Formats: sequence, C-alpha cells, structure tokens
Amino acid sequence: MTYTFIVDGMLGKLAKWLRILGYSTYYAKNEADNDLLKIASLSKAVLLTRDRHLKNRAEGMGINSIYMPEDLAASLLKLNRLGYIRLEINLRKSRCPLCNTKLEHLDPSRAEKLNAPHYVVERYSVILYCPRCGKFYWPGSHYIKMLAFLQRINEHNI
Ligand SMILES: [Zn+2]
Repeated sequence: MTYTFIVDGMLGKLAKWLRILGYSTYYAKNEADNDLLKIASLSKAVLLTRDRHLKNRAEGMGINSIYMPEDLAASLLKLNRLGYIRLEINLRKSRCPLCNTKLEHLDPSRAEKLNAPHYVVERYSVILYCPRCGKFYWPGSHYIKMLAFLQRINEHNI
C-alpha cells in the first residue's frame, strides 16, 4: 500500500481523521523510531509527528516531516493551510478509520446480505463497508458531528 501520511503513535485521532478524509495513512502505533523512519523513507510519505527529535532525524534523512500541534482541529487546519488536505468529507474517497482500506459503498440489499444491522439497512441508502475489518459505517449522528467539526475549522480559517 502507498501512503500519503505516516502518523506517529501519539496522534491516533488525527490518523483516523485523515483516513476518513480519504488520505492513505499509516498509523505507527507501536513502531520504534527507526522502523517508522524506514517506512516513511520507502513510501515517500509525509511524516506527521509531535516529537521534535524525530522530526529532526527525519529531515536529516530527507523525509518531509511536519510538527503537529496538540489540538486535533489545529492539526487539521495546519495541514489544510500547507496545502496537504481539503477539509471536506467525500464518502467516495473515505478509508476505514481502523485499517486504512478504502471503503466500499453498498446498496441496502447488498448490505443486508452481509448482515449489516437491520435498522441501518432500513434507514440509510448509503452504507459503507470495510472488506478487511467487516465493519459497516453509515452517515448517522457521528457523521453529522464530524461535518459540524469540519465546518467549525473551516470558519476559523477565514
Ligand atoms: Zn477496516
């Protein structure tokens, strides 16, 4: 798999968001710094980190690395201002927040065959599915909260 971003272990929430926004993201949850740098170097991805020492090491190896603020919204805004990401969700591009696999779009009958929860099949015309995790996603209340969060960030951007 090719990656746009390598995200260090301190930034799990950011990794999930980048995947939902459609950017192929490697989340280095337990990797040692050396392994993480190797992955970033091989995949030519941008390393996102809160570790200044790691950032300096990456730069010494010619790896593009960006220091992330502690706040999630500030991190997303920084990446947006630097031109790396768009602050909008396109469900056609979204990836599984858990494993980075591109989500499939199922119509309700197909979702039912794959044993999606019944109330989801009844209520939503778009159901997303991760073929790797076997997990279903749908544009329910959590999705609406995410859109509101992005809107707030976009408004601060003006
Ligand atoms: Zn998955």
